[in-house]
Amino acid sequence: MDLTKLKARELISGYENRDFTVEEVTKSYIEKIKDHNNKYNTYITFSEEKALNAAKKVDKHYQDREEMGILSGVPISIKDNIAVKDMRMTCASKMLEDFIPHYESTVEKKIRKNCGVILGKVNMDEFAMGASTKTSYFGPSKNPLNPDLVPGGSSGGSAASLAAEECALSVGTDTGGSIRQPASFCGLVGIKPTYGSISRFGVASMANTFDQVGAFGKDVADAHLLLKAMEGRSKKDATSVGNKSLRFDLDYDNDDEAISYLNGLNIAVPKMYLDLDLDPRVKEEYEKAIEIFEKSGANINVVEIDALKYVVQTYNILVNGEIAPNMARFDGLRYGHRTDNYSSYKEMFKKSRAEGFGTEVKRRIMIGTHILSLEYAKDYYYKALEVRNMIKTQMDKVYESNDLMLCPTSPILPPRIDKEVSPVEMYKQDLFTIPANMIGAPSMSVPMPKKDGLSVGIELTANRFKDDLMIKAALGFERSMR
Ligand code: GLN
Repeated sequence: MDLTKLKARELISGYENRDFTVEEVTKSYIEKIKDHNNKYNTYITFSEEKALNAAKKVDKHYQDREEMGILSGVPISIKDNIAVKDMRMTCASKMLEDFIPHYESTVEKKIRKNCGVILGKVNMDEFAMGASTKTSYFGPSKNPLNPDLVPGGSSGGSAASLAAEECALSVGTDTGGSIRQPASFCGLVGIKPTYGSISRFGVASMANTFDQVGAFGKDVADAHLLLKAMEGRSKKDATSVGNKSLRFDLDYDNDDEAISYLNGLNIAVPKMYLDLDLDPRVKEEYEKAIEIFEKSGANINVVEIDALKYVVQTYNILVNGEIAPNMARFDGLRYGHRTDNYSSYKEMFKKSRAEGFGTEVKRRIMIGTHILSLEYAKDYYYKALEVRNMIKTQMDKVYESNDLMLCPTSPILPPRIDKEVSPVEMYKQDLFTIPANMIGAPSMSVPMPKKDGLSVGIELTANRFKDDLMIKAALGFERSMR
């Protein structure tokens, strides 16, 4: 049996039945990673020794029949903008090529406490800015469904490592869609929970008021399991508040019960989305998804959310306004790459940053600095904050009479790696994923059945702290397609 084909929950029940050990499973993953020989360019840092030591420890717990956490023995990959103690953390940037954090992120702490086995750190767009992993200093990851295509981004390495069966679960971050879009491109489930559900201590910030850690799984139940392990308030991150609505158990084996969650749900479908010029396959699958909900007894309500037409522009102003100051610490003195030749501090900062950052990061620092400048802040940044409020007001109104919003995760199928995509074209592709980050809402992508080797992701978004409702509906949706 190829153990890497199993889902996280199947691994756990296999351990409990003594069908195989954590060490055996971890070794199968290590073999697969080696066998792939970087075919998909997923892992930036990978530690066989640490993974095996962790696996042996968990096996001992199983032998001694000790009480264990919910991830007992599940091999996990972690996006490289999340600190794992004494393991290189690059954020896929030359700037942090040699950075080794000597502290653990809360995410790492929780995974270890729950007895998960960390395999290593995976590729991403540089500092999480991008939608393909093509901005990574280490080169793009490849989509295991078709290696000529991008896996999506920024958490593209997370999605690719899971789709390539190089881990059983993966951790990502989502600022404007970076978990959901790669999940969609690689045929996986990706969940961004409500803002503040998971502590960001030890996570490199991109845009603090948008960033949220989340989970990738082969199915809804697996992704939910990882979220439950990571959820919780931490004193080290004042914006983390925990999230009770993630702490529930379901009978994942009862398909009829799962499908019954859809009955009577009110589902909002924004009119603007129905009128968009989408990839024909995406449109077709979106219509199918709407039909599935309807057939199972959900009410589909076409709604007008006028402010949705401004989300891409507003997001890019606000996010760049947060990116520019966040990137200021990478100057070769406090953090990051330092140039070899300089004759003054000023020159050192300048050259270190010029050498350390890639084009997309520089572009965003420049735009962010510009729109925050005294002269322009009023016209751009403060105006965008007002629009963010307007979006929130309009979406909150929709959630007064609707449980969920339904749309495709991405307007396109994964593009070819060698296709040139202009920055503006790339920014526009985030239109479905951004609204959730704007208002801190939970949102997830669920794959439609594969056709011609590819799958289209359908996105469900609920109101803040209604993660339970969203996950249950997603489970019902997933099971009604089996
Ligand atoms: N693609 C989006 C961007 O480039 C989202 C990034 C993210 O969620 N980290 O901004």
